Amino acid sequence: MSAPDGRNHAAPKATSPALVLPAEPLADPGKELPLVFAAPRRGKPARHWIDLTVDERVEAVKQAGLPAFRAQQMSKHFFERHETDPLQWTDLPQGMREQVAETFFPTLITQVSEQRCDGDTTVKTLWRLHDGSLVESVLMRYGVRPSKPGEVELGETDDETGVGRVRSTLCISSQAGCGMACPFCATGQGGLQRNMSTGEIISQVVAANQLLATGELPGGPGRVNNIVFMGMGEPMANYKAVIAAVRTLVEPAPHGIGMSARGITLSTVGLVPRIQQLTTEGIPLTLAISLHAPDDELRDELVPINTRYDVDEVLDAAWEYARTTRRRVSIEYIMIKDINDQAARAELLARRLKARGDWGWAHVNLIPLNPTPGSKWTASRKSDERAFVKTLENWGIPVTVRDTRGQEIDGACGQLAATMS
Ligand code: SF4
Repeated sequence: MSAPDGRNHAAPKATSPALVLPAEPLADPGKELPLVFAAPRRGKPARHWIDLTVDERVEAVKQAGLPAFRAQQMSKHFFERHETDPLQWTDLPQGMREQVAETFFPTLITQVSEQRCDGDTTVKTLWRLHDGSLVESVLMRYGVRPSKPGEVELGETDDETGVGRVRSTLCISSQAGCGMACPFCATGQGGLQRNMSTGEIISQVVAANQLLATGELPGGPGRVNNIVFMGMGEPMANYKAVIAAVRTLVEPAPHGIGMSARGITLSTVGLVPRIQQLTTEGIPLTLAISLHAPDDELRDELVPINTRYDVDEVLDAAWEYARTTRRRVSIEYIMIKDINDQAARAELLARRLKARGDWGWAHVNLIPLNPTPGSKWTASRKSDERAFVKTLENWGIPVTVRDTRGQEIDGACGQLAATMS
């Protein structure tokens, strides 16, 4: 297709004999899952304070027979102080608290289990929604001093002071299950149960902020600094609720969580019309594309949505997002041994990115595969990973290898829910 900048972005013809599909088919014939876009109709969660706009909250309070100023008071408790139980809000008249709790603050997510690893700097929580659906979120702390000699410090160092900065990143779910059917993913194998509401999505963030405020995690009290929509689900397939959640995240307190849009990453397998829609929203968040293969032949199998929107269409939409927002796009690439990790594929990826722009508009994030139980695939050899990195670097493409936090607690997306359901 023609690119937004009018240049020819057609993929260079693959000439290397390494660019072939693996000898064995990726999915067992007849076992491929269908792509599912429309979420099955299931009982909706109760309407929550989070689901309302600021104006709607004032209106709802008045309709409940309460004075309008109570709306701001309630938002302050919930969004600013992460106090989620109205029965404890002593500045509300006692007789009013129960009504407020029932009308505006129903419980949307209930903790089923919590697992910690990496010296308690990784916390994975499994949540049950009102209809029994299971979703999960993972909280990761960075910049925490090692607790034992020989352990590596996790996280960034402040450029000026050289001192580690404690940061907290939360990976959240946007759907119960997922309809995108990626064969390497535990969530994809279970299919789509339903879309999550804005209230359910934001509840994961509020719960993480509550945990961080207690100060019990290494690094002391804090709050969520970064959100990645990389838990269960394809966020762009639940666009309306996800964008409303993003707006709540960036809305200043007391009406929202008050985060910087730059700390939010929205990840997609490549729903091109939604990427184009996001480009027009005017929210400077980071877009992450789960590419995983630079050629359509392989990507058709690894990421089935590619049969609808191919690599060129996805990269064109990503490039347009970067050009419009001046935000660097993250290209996510799971490294699977002998499947997509050949240097020739690194070269093709580099050529396709470079063909669109040369100002570092894309950053490649390599992710060693965390295999799902029973999977025949494993993570790439370190030597192949290094060769992949080197090839990209030779082309001047910024590249990092993601740390593999949470592996001992089934850190791959959807694995915990898959083992519980
Ligand atoms: S990798 Fe992401 S988009 Fe693909 S099936 Fe899993 S959750 Fe869905």
